[in-house]
Amino acid sequence: MKTKLNLWQTRDLTLYGKSLLAKTLGASQLIYTASMISVPDTAINTVQSHLFSFLWKNKKDKIKRNVAFQPLSEGGLNFVNFRVMVKSLRLAWIGRLLSNSNDNWKAIPNFYFEKYGGLLFLLKCNYNTANLDKNLPLFYRELLDYFQELNNNSKDNNSNLILWNNKKITVEKNSVFWKRWFERGIYFVSDLLNSNGRFLSLDEFQEKYDLKVNLLHYFQLLAAIPLVVKRKAFDSPTPDLFSTSLEYHQLEDRTLVLPKLRCKNYYKLFIETLAVEPTAFKSWKRCFLELTDWNKCFVEIHKSSKDNKLRQFSFKVLHRIIPSKKELKKYNLNNDDTCFLCPNLDSIEHTFIHCNESANLFTHTMRWFNDFHNTKLQLSNRQILSNSFEGSSFFTIIESP
Ligand SMILES: [Zn+2]
Repeated sequence: MKTKLNLWQTRDLTLYGKSLLAKTLGASQLIYTASMISVPDTAINTVQSHLFSFLWKNKKDKIKRNVAFQPLSEGGLNFVNFRVMVKSLRLAWIGRLLSNSNDNWKAIPNFYFEKYGGLLFLLKCNYNTANLDKNLPLFYRELLDYFQELNNNSKDNNSNLILWNNKKITVEKNSVFWKRWFERGIYFVSDLLNSNGRFLSLDEFQEKYDLKVNLLHYFQLLAAIPLVVKRKAFDSPTPDLFSTSLEYHQLEDRTLVLPKLRCKNYYKLFIETLAVEPTAFKSWKRCFLELTDWNKCFVEIHKSSKDNKLRQFSFKVLHRIIPSKKELKKYNLNNDDTCFLCPNLDSIEHTFIHCNESANLFTHTMRWFNDFHNTKLQLSNRQILSNSFEGSSFFTIIESP
């Protein structure tokens, strides 16, 4: 991967081009392996740092990594996040495991997941792989961890009312799953409570579920249920687990259909959770109070020009990563921070907006444009900066004969 990327390093590519190459020449080399075996953290970190040094030409990052991973419309570069890719490749196995085919390879994972009521049921539980059977292979353990990670980002969680595979309900540090009970329809903590919110006595329990159980077993389980969980189980309605198929999974306001989810779907879900606001927005908001929808500026970049170099220029201005003399002085690369063209202090706003010379250039350009096209257009500073020509009836005028 490193050699391939190095070959392209010398070319004069835009950030967009490099982001694409990082995916197609870089990470793609590792995808097959990463989907088959567990990838250690050190490998993930090494790969990611190679990819970033390719993007920034072995120099320091210019924008936050979590911004770079976002789609172009969010001010990112769609840059490949290898860690998320590894996680998504693993989670893509859920879809394969749940497919209708009766492949031989499924025998092994199914053997393990059956111990917890099957994969679909387990995914609904409030599990922690540390409290599951130690024999569960790392590959599947990680799969469960990654799924849990995705889940934890969603607030509404009734899974802690499920009795089985619950990390809060442990006997000798292991969560429990008792198949015989499960088959009798005992799923929730509330299934063990009477109408007063107390635990059923052993006799009541045996009668209710027509199930002979060991006294010690029974009280061991009751003792394992923390008081908060018991209270919550009594106060909240019994979760609705079986009215729809277990294949549907609720993630905040989204319903995921587990057998249909592919790697790219999981990838997108993870990337969304990483989203942060680009640092530069704060400074731009100070200059243009009325402009709140900064993300839109990034969308406009791709509408206002087809040329990737020009797009990149806009991208850099919006991220404020074009150094003016102000930055050069700040980093001790230059003693002087006055503008090249006038005696005022230089800054990114000065160069592109406030400097008289720039203003003249824009005026001249607009005059030329208006003469040439027989139009009467004017662009505000905000429109120039944000590539937004809405409201200036820019396109309608051009299109009229
Ligand atoms: Zn100036």
